[in-house]
Amino acid sequence: MSTTAVRPRFRSLRQVRHALDTGQLTFEQLVQYYLHRIATDNKRLNVFIEVFADEALRRARQLDDRLQHEGLSALGPLAGMVVSLKDVLCFKDHQVTAASRILDGFHSLFSATAVSRVLDADAIIIGRVNCDEFAMGSSTEYSYYGPTHNALDPERVPGGSSGGSAVAVQADMCLASIGSDTGGSVRQPAAFCGVVGFKPSYGRISRHGLLAYASSFDQIGTLTHSAIDAASLLSVMAGPDAYDATCSPQPLPTFSDEAWASVPQARIAWFAEALDHPGLDPRIAQLTRQYLEGLRQKGHQLEAVSFDLIDYVVPAYYVLTTAEASSNLSRYDGVRFGWRHPQARSPEEVYTMTRTAGFGAEVKRRIMLGAFVLSAGYYDAYYGRAQKVRHLIVQRMAALFERYDFIVMPTSPVLPWHLGQMNEDPTQMYLADIYTVLANLAGLPAISLPAGQVEGLPIGVQFMAAPFREKPLLEFAHSILDRENA
Ligand code: GLN
Repeated sequence: MSTTAVRPRFRSLRQVRHALDTGQLTFEQLVQYYLHRIATDNKRLNVFIEVFADEALRRARQLDDRLQHEGLSALGPLAGMVVSLKDVLCFKDHQVTAASRILDGFHSLFSATAVSRVLDADAIIIGRVNCDEFAMGSSTEYSYYGPTHNALDPERVPGGSSGGSAVAVQADMCLASIGSDTGGSVRQPAAFCGVVGFKPSYGRISRHGLLAYASSFDQIGTLTHSAIDAASLLSVMAGPDAYDATCSPQPLPTFSDEAWASVPQARIAWFAEALDHPGLDPRIAQLTRQYLEGLRQKGHQLEAVSFDLIDYVVPAYYVLTTAEASSNLSRYDGVRFGWRHPQARSPEEVYTMTRTAGFGAEVKRRIMLGAFVLSAGYYDAYYGRAQKVRHLIVQRMAALFERYDFIVMPTSPVLPWHLGQMNEDPTQMYLADIYTVLANLAGLPAISLPAGQVEGLPIGVQFMAAPFREKPLLEFAHSILDRENA
């Protein structure tokens, strides 16, 4: 079954702010609009786990008050941005569960740095949205709250793990969503839902208050309709943070109106091994080649380069991330956070019964795999080797970025699949991450842009840049995106 997409009322913060500034809209009306959209479609699509309706309306009224007295220019840079949070981001005094039973009932004692910064910039948070449990998955089917559905075809998955975020934007339930990307979780659902998914460089945004999956890969990212909105959110969230030692002090250059208006000529490489890969759906390959031809016609320089490490990226990623996850998730012990098995009597029972019933099958599979690759006797063969592959990839990418501004490839090798289709063999789903995990292995910024449709289903094209080159990446993305989104 296929349904037509909702036409978003606003496609950018700029449009919202114009309406606010000219008195055509109030903050309260804006929030009411999104609450109405949520009330209309949330049951069917299972996007929001929780809606902060009263709180969002209260905040909207306060902003209206300030708008009247001080004018829009006195408000923060995100005034008018109504956002949702993936259920892995801490928001003080609100529940956060990573879509897992094990955190059922847990309330955050503090807000993630990224969350405090968007609030300080006057954004409105409208609710928390569904995802795969602990952000492990590519379809948002592995959630304690049940699967989220793709609004373009509710029998298909929205991608994952930030599937709730992608559908919230796709189905116009908020203007933007803040997600997390460990191996593609912002970019792949963006591709599956026809929106823009942006992951900054590793270390660009503080991970403080982001529930950890694999700490050397995790990064906060955004789902929006436009590259400019991704940039606005990035500008607010980026920057050093005393609570995250891996967060870089590299200053983020400011985005100017002139830069948005220019169309830079870019040197772009594509990997022959990626576009000729046997796992790539030929229809996606064809559309991607057409897209690349379009870029060439716009005056960009495109060149094929060889990347013979392509078949190592998924194994290296899954060895390293499961190893890190097995350590990170050891903190969920039934004692300190969230849910505890009610029948557990002894300390040992508290651990085993809580973890057995509290985690879903996919999370348990990964904890066990991670413990295995780290175990004495296997460490060198798996973890040690995967670290070496990661090192090689970092070097190879650095060499490429001396010659090219961007590397382009499809975001996903496959179209959004039917719910349940990948349940038999989890490795099939892992292989679908082939194009996105590279950016996380090497810490690169990357963006997925809508690039057309195959049989009514959206596909995405992904651009990656050298570490901390978000500004040229976003400006380039804007220059090739539909101008309607500005
Ligand atoms: N699909 C990948 C995984 O399951 C990526 C998830 C993510 O980026 N959080 O690990």
